[in-house]
Amino acid sequence: MKIVVLGTGYVGLVHAAVCSEYGHEVIAYDNDVAKLEAFATGQAREIANHVNEPGLDSVIRETIDRYLYFSTDLKAIIEGTDAVFMCLPTPPNLDGSTNLTFYDAAAEHLAALLAARKDKRRIVVVNKSTVPIGSARHLENILKSHGVENAGVASNPEFLAEGTAVAQARRPDRVVVGCDCEEDFNILRRVYSQFVNHVRIKYLETTPETAEAIKYVANTVLLTYISFWNGVGAKIGEKIPNVNINDLRIGVTSDERISTWGSFVSNGAGGSCFGKDIASLINQLRKVNVSTKMLEASYEVNEYQKVYLVDRAITEAGFKFNNKTVTVLGLAFKKHTNDMRDASSIKVIESLLGKGAAKIKAYDPLANESAKCEFDPSKNILFDKIEYFDTAKDAIAGSDALFISSDCEEFRGLSRTIEELARPPYLIMDGRRMIPDYADLMDKQYTYLAVGAMVMGPVHN
Ligand code: NAD
Repeated sequence: MKIVVLGTGYVGLVHAAVCSEYGHEVIAYDNDVAKLEAFATGQAREIANHVNEPGLDSVIRETIDRYLYFSTDLKAIIEGTDAVFMCLPTPPNLDGSTNLTFYDAAAEHLAALLAARKDKRRIVVVNKSTVPIGSARHLENILKSHGVENAGVASNPEFLAEGTAVAQARRPDRVVVGCDCEEDFNILRRVYSQFVNHVRIKYLETTPETAEAIKYVANTVLLTYISFWNGVGAKIGEKIPNVNINDLRIGVTSDERISTWGSFVSNGAGGSCFGKDIASLINQLRKVNVSTKMLEASYEVNEYQKVYLVDRAITEAGFKFNNKTVTVLGLAFKKHTNDMRDASSIKVIESLLGKGAAKIKAYDPLANESAKCEFDPSKNILFDKIEYFDTAKDAIAGSDALFISSDCEEFRGLSRTIEELARPPYLIMDGRRMIPDYADLMDKQYTYLAVGAMVMGPVHN
């Protein structure tokens, strides 16, 4: 099969690389030439600067210039293609609706080239981007408006989780394909031949609209489950004496019908998808007069959860951030990625600065560079107060309080470092419950404030 991938971000690059592993001829195109040049080097660091996914560089090195190609010329590569995968960004508008500007620009560009192709064999244009339910028709109309012949549209939503994207692309839970006709299903069956009759991987064929809806419902269910634990489970632990949140979680999730995934309370879920997808679904359902109260509650719980420990530090621990130096560990939205999109750290740092913090000492093992772009002082002069460090230790030294905002493994063993570098009553705000031996710190008069528990240790005045 000859496959073209449009957009080489987290979704497109991983899809292109893993499809090339299966022996398809894959040509990846992006309008960001610097990205393509970096990927074509095959160098781990160059690739990770743009898309940081474990194992991705070795797949690219293995297949580049044999099955995998990068091109800046879409016109030159489109001839003879069987399927084009649309992996474009679909960020949220301010009202939560999906911004299709990038998607439409790419679709129009593609349609003009497809209309002029010489080889009129059947081609399927496949949405991997998360796009509103009904977008396959929108794509069909763009193709029709350019007079493209013998082309089908399909929806094949992506379910990858960043940090494990390569492993998941090789062995997904399911592959969902929505097409209008057998001819197009057949093309997708050849693309995904290794999954079609797989005993454990569900290969689901359905309508394009159903496939689009599956993506939104799946992400919304996941966020709602996370929000349930943060908005209900964690609050029980924070407000009712003698409730142990870990035991509560274990006791509840021992029921095999109740998932362990998502039950670990936290300072909210970030990333490029959860927030924007639920906001988009709310927007889509409002347009067809469906009540969205439940989805709104999930969204709101998650948004406030990102920052509420800062408020609790003031109201429950009596801490004043004015003129204080605060360490923030974990800048990306989770471990194993440098992706800052919708990371909880953004709200945390904005809130700390808004409450008068004199300095933020920041550290993330992978995301310091992308955080510098996110916290660009030309956007907000207060971001000048952020200093970046190469180790957690350097970031903690000399600060008045600590906020742990992501689940990087290295943050688990920090209690000794804290004892070494910070004198009590140092305040530890633990958004991920990363300090299992917090009782030792309390004995030494540190103040420990975690999601799902009452404030422990001395209260500040
Ligand atoms: P991304 O921003 O990492 O990558 C998008 C790429 O498209 C960029 O490299 C950009 O340069 C390129 N691009 C923009 N306009 C273009 C154009 N006109 N022509 C060619 N290339 C263009 O985005 P992503 O995280 O890969 O997400 C892509 C889509 O997949 C989104 O709809 C997203 O919601 C969905 N998705 C993302 C994830 C995830 O975890 N990142 C998971 C599932 C689904």
